[in-house]
Amino acid sequence: MIKKLFSILFFFVAIFSTHAQQIIDTVETANGRMFIYANRTWEYEKDKGFDGVLNPRMHSLLTKDSTLNYIQTWDNNTCYTSARKNDLSRLKDTLWLCVLEDVHSEFRSPVDGIVTSRYGYRSGKHHSGIDLDLETGDTVRSCWSGKVRYAKYNDGGFGNLVIVRHYNGLETFYAHLSKLLVVPDQDVKAGDILGLGGNTGHSFGSHLHFEVRFYDAAMNPEEVIDFEKRVCKDDNLFIHKGLFRPGAKPTDTLDEGESPVQAIPAVQTAQKKYHKVKSGDTLSNIASRNNTSISKICQLNGIRPTTTLQIGRSLRVK
Ligand SMILES: [Zn+2]
Repeated sequence: MIKKLFSILFFFVAIFSTHAQQIIDTVETANGRMFIYANRTWEYEKDKGFDGVLNPRMHSLLTKDSTLNYIQTWDNNTCYTSARKNDLSRLKDTLWLCVLEDVHSEFRSPVDGIVTSRYGYRSGKHHSGIDLDLETGDTVRSCWSGKVRYAKYNDGGFGNLVIVRHYNGLETFYAHLSKLLVVPDQDVKAGDILGLGGNTGHSFGSHLHFEVRFYDAAMNPEEVIDFEKRVCKDDNLFIHKGLFRPGAKPTDTLDEGESPVQAIPAVQTAQKKYHKVKSGDTLSNIASRNNTSISKICQLNGIRPTTTLQIGRSLRVK
């Protein structure tokens, strides 16, 4: 009898594991009907088969030239959906893109902090975004409406990263977050909270690393946004090859070597020491390994002894 039960059980396990996308339940939600799959994942009915094209006019203009082979897909697990193949510095035409239009006319600065590091070369390395000052725990907001494409920890240097695709085809990156407050495929409006600012990934000191990308290629965010006045510079943006770095291939890595904290005098920098939180770390073993106390670490990082340590976070220990 028991043997028979086991074989029935095995039969069901086999069925469910080979049909991972089998719908086991449907739930009516405020966002429409949601499908629950046998593998415990879920999806909204409206997202089923979603191809990521939020601006069909722009998408057809970009993909019609077979010599350029531009690609943009919808992938929740990778930063760059063209597999790093798009080179926008080879763009032949100038394309007119609406930054603010009818239903998507709102803009909100991602954080209120000042610019601490600009786009471009710094100490021989290219900085693909702009750094904005914040305290760990400050809210980080979506600057335009769109759909969350990526929301997870990125071990290439971005730390906790949210990528939002907007209705004009641009994508914005929000990196080094201490907490993620959205999930992939979620619709967001301008000003919606995406997460809390932090210091995760390759970052020395809390700040927001913010990028604006078009079909994977980074451009200077200050082409679009006035970070001092916290407004869009214009309702329109002309996309042309001059906005993009020739031959630049997007990589998954972010090197924030010249972030604001390192810009302070060398004497102070030399005394500072950071520890990257690994699995199994506790405040007490980090403190004892670095000859310091839990209270000193808490004071240096503005955290409490009870704060949950997120893996990948950089803690200042000296
Ligand atoms: Zn940065």
